[in-house]
Amino acid sequence: MRGYIPSYQLLTPISLAEALTMLANEPGVWKPFAGGTDLMVLLEAGRLQHQRYINIWPLDELHKIEVTDEHITLGALTTYTDVQANPILRSEFPMLCQAASETGGLAIQNRGTLGGNIVNASPAADSPPALLAYDAEIELTSTKSSRWISYQGFHTGYKEMQMEPDELLTRIRLPRQTSNCLHYYRKVGTRKAQAISKVCLAAVGRKVNQHISDTRIAFGSVAPIVVRCVTTERALRGKPMDAATMKLAGDSLMKEIAPIDDIRSTAAYRLRVATNLLLDFLNALQRF
Ligand SMILES: Cc1cc2nc3c(=O)[nH]c(=O)nc-3n(C[C@H](O)[C@H](O)[C@H](O)COP(=O)(O)OP(=O)(O)OC[C@H]3O[C@@H](n4cnc5c(N)ncnc54)[C@H](O)[C@@H]3O)c2cc1C
Repeated sequence: MRGYIPSYQLLTPISLAEALTMLANEPGVWKPFAGGTDLMVLLEAGRLQHQRYINIWPLDELHKIEVTDEHITLGALTTYTDVQANPILRSEFPMLCQAASETGGLAIQNRGTLGGNIVNASPAADSPPALLAYDAEIELTSTKSSRWISYQGFHTGYKEMQMEPDELLTRIRLPRQTSNCLHYYRKVGTRKAQAISKVCLAAVGRKVNQHISDTRIAFGSVAPIVVRCVTTERALRGKPMDAATMKLAGDSLMKEIAPIDDIRSTAAYRLRVATNLLLDFLNALQRF
């Protein structure tokens, strides 16, 4: 049953400073409302427990995309449609564009934001694996300070993250270091569109003389949080692209992910598919 609307409050601040002051004055009382695509589902289902929201959608600074020689920096309110339309993201960060194009349908892509996808903290979310593989950093801002942290390590447990109640996720920064990389993104769901992931892999890799020089490998839907597989990445560094390396990759991955049985899939299926995707990535790197 839909939540009782008069019990909710949604205020629109006139500036980012006012939004941050509201969060600071009553920490934990107000929460951001961005595109609302996750929050409205909870409201419709009568499961939206929190009652006071700050409508951050009109804050122009959170919609900006800025480019320097070193980075592309995306406002937290960058939508999936914005991502797909950006020429630099299309040429240098294609996995983020693919994730955006496979997220929901057009209405969701027009309204859903990267910031909302990160803070909603679903382990099955589709942009976080790409952000992890691209070494994204995120900016958390409060009235007191603004800090950049690595996105890797931000999620500390299921729906738990390193963000204070008075902080807003304001920007996401991607280092422009993807030249000569293979980009590999696969979302496996029940259907080709409008499906929640059973397993999702985003990986980038480089090789030198048929040896793996470096990889960045991130999975969704295989643990309580999206995971960057740093042990497997380390194990693969400098290895030749042969059968022994493929076996090493599969064995290492098994120890690094912990999928569960749930309504969408089984742990056994997820383990098998995750391993197959990793091997497919390495085969693609061999041919690259
Ligand atoms: C039909 C449908 C299909 C979907 N398909 C997909 C899919 O394929 N893949 C996928 O990953 N997701 C999917 N989603 C989920 C959703 O669209 C995304 O997670 C989206 O990115 C959420 O962004 P939002 O701006 O709408 O977040 P909101 O709903 O506004 O907020 C989500 C959470 O994040 C917090 N928040 C939002 N912005 C900030 C910020 N800047 N700082 C701090 N906290 C913030 C809010 O307080 C709230 O807790 C789907 C949803 C629907 C309804």
